[in-house]
Amino acid sequence: MTGRLQTAEGLEIARRALDLMADHAISPTPQNYALFTAFMADSNPELCTELQGALHAGGPVSADFLEDLYDRHFTFKRMQDAVIDAGGAMSRELGAVVKTLEAAERDTAAYGEALAGASGQLGSTTDSTAIKRMVEGLVSATSRMQRRSRDLERRLQETSQEVDQLRSNLEKVREEAMTDALTGVANRKRFDESMRKARRDADTKGEPFSLILCDIDHFKRFNDTWGHQTGDQVIRFVAACLSRFSREHHIVARYGGEEFGVVLPATGIDEARTIAEKVRSTVESKRLLRKSTNEDLGNISVSLGVSQFRDGESVEGLIERCDTNLYKSKQTGRNRITVDSGAAGAAAA
Ligand code: GH3
Ligand code: MG
Ligand code: MG
Repeated sequence: MTGRLQTAEGLEIARRALDLMADHAISPTPQNYALFTAFMADSNPELCTELQGALHAGGPVSADFLEDLYDRHFTFKRMQDAVIDAGGAMSRELGAVVKTLEAAERDTAAYGEALAGASGQLGSTTDSTAIKRMVEGLVSATSRMQRRSRDLERRLQETSQEVDQLRSNLEKVREEAMTDALTGVANRKRFDESMRKARRDADTKGEPFSLILCDIDHFKRFNDTWGHQTGDQVIRFVAACLSRFSREHHIVARYGGEEFGVVLPATGIDEARTIAEKVRSTVESKRLLRKSTNEDLGNISVSLGVSQFRDGESVEGLIERCDTNLYKSKQTGRNRITVDSGAAGAAAA
């Protein structure tokens, strides 16, 4: 669906979203309404797949699941809100500082006038009462100035703490916007950024740069048998395996629903292959247990593609080649890795 919804179409979608929510006894919160409207409008393929899976599972759709879904798919909106809030707070802080500075400026001007007046009078008067009055006036103007500059200092200190806090909040939001909420690894956005950076570095430094793509085998079947929530545990497990065998400067990302990418800057194909093979064999050998009941869920496996960046290649070109390798792993029986043809030991597992 592209462009804006026409009013009638929009109303129809809203009505169908509410009907579906009622059918599944979903509580009509604004978040749930946003999820179901997006679902009915078919405006977010990933959200649609996930929600459809949960609705088809038959049982009640948990509030936790919907909350998590909302968090993950409307993160950008949350980030926007946070930025707007932070912007508003900063502007209020700065407004207060400007007011304090203006007041200080007025006091400084008045203080200057008091000093000028006093020095003018000093030359012309010998009257001790007048001198006393003048000195008292100067003392009180001076203490007003001192008070004002203490206020100003305190205000500036508060503002700088507030601005630091806002900056760190924004940093947290930015980090969150780059992180996959289900697994804690990088999300697609960070994956794309990391790929572009790794390519630039490979170009300028002449270092090798590799990519691993990984997809869970027959995951639909697993979901259908054990349910979406248990499927989520498996996605977390695979993310943890990829993180465990990757090095600190590698970026493990959830690339799609049950697909992962590992960006390996400054890494050649041999090391990439070793990591991919360790992930494959570890996933294969792990007996899965349902967390809540300890029920034995059997084993799962993953298929992987491994490629090394070639001079002059685009990021998209590298992903495509690696995806072709992953596809070959699927075609030739799954639970295996396929490395660029031409690389030593290209077929494995
Ligand atoms: P293949 O071996 O060919 O990869 O088969 P597959 O069943 O894994 O492949 P397919 O792409 O057909 O299915 C992927 C499934 O992953 C479909 C969808 O229900 C599920 N899925 C996608 N995202 C999520 C998620 O976030 N959580 C859960 N539990 N399942 C998801
Ligand atoms: Mg897939
Ligand atoms: Mg799959």
